[in-house]
Amino acid sequence: MEILAAVARAPQTEFTLESLTLDGPQAGEVLVRVEAVGICHTDIATRDGAIPVSLPAVLGHEGCGVVEAVGAGVTKVAPGDRVGITFASCGTCPACVADSPSYCHNFMPLNYSGLRPDGTGPLSADGESVTGLFFGQSSFATYSLAWERNVVKVPDDVPAAIIAPIGCGIQTGAGAVLRSLDCRPGSALLVAGAGSVGLSAVMAAAVRECATIIVVEPHESRRTLALELGATHVVNPADGPVEEQVRAILPAGVDYAIDTSGLPAVIGSLIKSMTFHGKLGLIGVPADPTATLPLSILEALVLGITVTGIVEGDSDPDSFMPELIELYRSGRFPIDKLVTTFPFAKINDAIEAQHRGEVLKPVLVHD
Ligand SMILES: [Zn+2]
Ligand SMILES: [Zn+2]
Repeated sequence: MEILAAVARAPQTEFTLESLTLDGPQAGEVLVRVEAVGICHTDIATRDGAIPVSLPAVLGHEGCGVVEAVGAGVTKVAPGDRVGITFASCGTCPACVADSPSYCHNFMPLNYSGLRPDGTGPLSADGESVTGLFFGQSSFATYSLAWERNVVKVPDDVPAAIIAPIGCGIQTGAGAVLRSLDCRPGSALLVAGAGSVGLSAVMAAAVRECATIIVVEPHESRRTLALELGATHVVNPADGPVEEQVRAILPAGVDYAIDTSGLPAVIGSLIKSMTFHGKLGLIGVPADPTATLPLSILEALVLGITVTGIVEGDSDPDSFMPELIELYRSGRFPIDKLVTTFPFAKINDAIEAQHRGEVLKPVLVHD
């Protein structure tokens, strides 16, 4: 079938809207008419060459839409069902079997190779092959081809633009608090960065009833929004060393810290802000792939610190996405405060607006 897609053709260049041919659904695949898709930093980093995906490619990995057709053997969803689309996982490796699909041993080929297990790809442009199946979906398009395992049935009464970003950014921030670190009620959490991931962590910490939620963020508008979403304190790094500002609020230091910046200097200030036996969660991807942790062995020993890397918030999407949608419906997890919608054709404008810091989570919607 013919679809319209935003194609990444070269690093640092705008996406181009093109008509492509989509071949599928084959056995185990689900064809989804996309209603909305979030833009995540990973899409841009991939276009710009930070992640080895061959161009031209259709990116997009926070899709939501309606199932149009299913391939042989698919039983989880049927045509007409509304689905959120999330990252792909195999379902059979030790991590998947242990309900940790974001650490799937086959994560790289399933999410980045653009190929089916048989080596074919679903997308082409006038005979030229185009990388599809990005995160098992390539949803910067009118139609997305996903696998049964990475679609999750979702309710019809919640806007697609709210559900779409749960598939990556929002479940990552919320899962960091509710699953990866499993923050205790009454505890103190420090979050570096009030982008959509950091603010999802803040909303989740409010749900978990953390007593102290401190956000480090240089932009005033984002600090204000953090307070609105449940932060008890905000810190502007321009006002002095972060650890001194945090210890002025909480002399003993925080129990948990989450980094969304990927910057060693920021991570160092989080470590200096933590109490004994604390847990540090790392979400932000460093711009420099060789960057290392600013943590001495002695410091690690004396503090009894636990450091954990976090992928997709340790989400098991089949249960966690519905849990977050339910929290949104009950008014306790206001995703709408993070989302700005753009028409699908305005994808390059949406990316620019996010780059300028005008929007937190751009979501593209189809008419
Ligand atoms: Zn797996
Ligand atoms: Zn993402």
